[in-house]
Amino acid sequence: MLPPQPRVVVLAGGVGGSKFTLGVRAALRRLGAPEATVIVNTGDDLWLSGVRLQPDVDSITYALAGVNDTERGWGRAGDTERVNEELQAWGAGWPWFTLGDLDLGTHLARTGWLRDGLTPTQVLERMAQRWPLGIRMLPMTDSEVDTHVLLEDGGRLHFQEWWTRHRAKLTPRAFENPGVADAVPAPGVAEAIAGADVVLIAPSNPVVSIGPILSVPGIRDAVRKTSAKVVGVSPIIGGRVVRGMADVCLTAIGVETSAAAVARHYGARSAGGVLDAWLLAEEDAAAATDVEIAGLRAVVAPLWMRDEETSAAIAEVALRA
Ligand code: GDP
Ligand code: CA
Repeated sequence: MLPPQPRVVVLAGGVGGSKFTLGVRAALRRLGAPEATVIVNTGDDLWLSGVRLQPDVDSITYALAGVNDTERGWGRAGDTERVNEELQAWGAGWPWFTLGDLDLGTHLARTGWLRDGLTPTQVLERMAQRWPLGIRMLPMTDSEVDTHVLLEDGGRLHFQEWWTRHRAKLTPRAFENPGVADAVPAPGVAEAIAGADVVLIAPSNPVVSIGPILSVPGIRDAVRKTSAKVVGVSPIIGGRVVRGMADVCLTAIGVETSAAAVARHYGARSAGGVLDAWLLAEEDAAAATDVEIAGLRAVVAPLWMRDEETSAAIAEVALRA
């Protein structure tokens, strides 16, 4: 039974992660429950033009603060690109990677604090003081972890170059996270997972968002061992990714783009995996049996996160699962 005021931990990436996190916050507020802890992927963080970028951290922060650009799907609403034009004129940075002016303010603030000696966890704590986020955010680790894409033609690209410049059009054969083997979970991460009543895996990219989080030594084990129920939400609806190119990532690691295949990829805790239950979209209801055969409780629900209300409804189903 779910306690009336559950302690909730969410593992999340950027776009799918932020929409889901908004819903979790709303659902918990209705229950009068404590703030959830969101453990954010930092595997696609990078240095560019001397500043530290944390795409997934910023997507979640901006969404919770209500200052995100909902149309474009990333960055700040109403941002301009004057500094970016100047960087391009200098030939600095990446011509195909836009940095908004307001967004650069965030990156500069963060970089300054990192240079002052704060850890990424402390920087995030500091950044959370500006807006009442209603969520406790933790980076998965304080160590620098990258995501590289190994291409079929033998090449190797930084994830952002493959994703943003090449729109995932170059066929990948594997993903690697340099730095992850030596990383340790950020302070509070293992404790939050161990002390939770429910751990939710957001409908984020299983390969390059949730994958890196679970690859930080100690995090997968913490999820496997927690007394909390672990519930995942499918990022696949009707056999397709909702947005983005996660299907290319799944194909590269040999996982079919289907709700059941992603559930099997995470696996049941009873069979060495990380999940107890899996939320599938109504469009994928027929796959519920396959999910149960894999040892998971299958719960069918509408999974389109159109706005905070629909995301909150999904979060409520996940909490009750
Ligand atoms: P990124 O870090 O910005 O790439 O974002 P995430 O990894 O957090 O989320 C990307 C995933 O979110 C994609 O694979 C989508 O399939 C999924 N997604 C986006 N919108 C929705 C939605 O409305 N419902 C569900 N179930 N998944 C979604
Ligand atoms: Ca991301």
